Amino acid sequence: MYHHIKKLMYTVRVGTPDPVYGKMLLEQFGGQNGELAAAMQYTVQGINTTNPSIKDLLMDIGTEELSHLEVVGTLAMMHLKPMKGGSRAAAEADPLLAITGGGGVNLVDSAGSAWTANYLKVTGEPDIDLRNNIAAEARAKVTYDRLMRLTDDQGTIDALQFLMTREITHMRAFMQGLESLGKAPLDVGFYAPTPGLVDQFFNDSTGEGEDGAKDETTRAPWIKGFEIVDNPGFNPEKMKLDEVAGSAKQDISTSSRKHIEPVEHAAE
Ligand code: MN
Ligand code: MN
Repeated sequence: MYHHIKKLMYTVRVGTPDPVYGKMLLEQFGGQNGELAAAMQYTVQGINTTNPSIKDLLMDIGTEELSHLEVVGTLAMMHLKPMKGGSRAAAEADPLLAITGGGGVNLVDSAGSAWTANYLKVTGEPDIDLRNNIAAEARAKVTYDRLMRLTDDQGTIDALQFLMTREITHMRAFMQGLESLGKAPLDVGFYAPTPGLVDQFFNDSTGEGEDGAKDETTRAPWIKGFEIVDNPGFNPEKMKLDEVAGSAKQDISTSSRKHIEPVEHAAE
């Protein structure tokens, strides 16, 4: 259940309202990496989760994000104050905010696009959801960074500093939540990948001299441990495709079905 406490998680102070900046702040209200998206993503994931400790992690942070929505919405509303009152100048500056919204905040991003549940990533797999959330927190953090650089108002910067800091806290909590599941980094989903093929890196951008820029892949730091296959499009025989056929079939009967529990249907 939810209970609203009639104070903000961080007290918001604005010196001089800046309506154009208020509109930019909507990116964190109704935008793709904003607070509503975060709150809904974690809450819906939490409802789906049966692991008690991961459920707590998701519901606690999902709830905090709703408090962030309230803070950033209040901040945007304070900056948009000059848009209230129905003036022709305000309507010309932003018809959507002034005429449709009456100068208040709405669930749109900084360009006026409506918030959508399509922003959410909910997979029903706690480890995959947590990885999505780690990336979501990074996106939210950098969005706050950018907004902080676009204003001189100290009260606004302080509020954004608070919100930005909490995203790093969340990122850490999700990372530790993922770690607590004890899954190896590449242990994803039900089926084991095909041996051999899984260790091949397809070097699809080779070329030198007149054929293009010097190839970086062969000496890149991230290539360690991979078998490099140059130009697989021209050398298809080098791809270990033969090993694919039948490799998943063996796995069905053994360990990789470990996640699947039998479902019992009531007799009709
Ligand atoms: Mn947040
Ligand atoms: Mn967060």
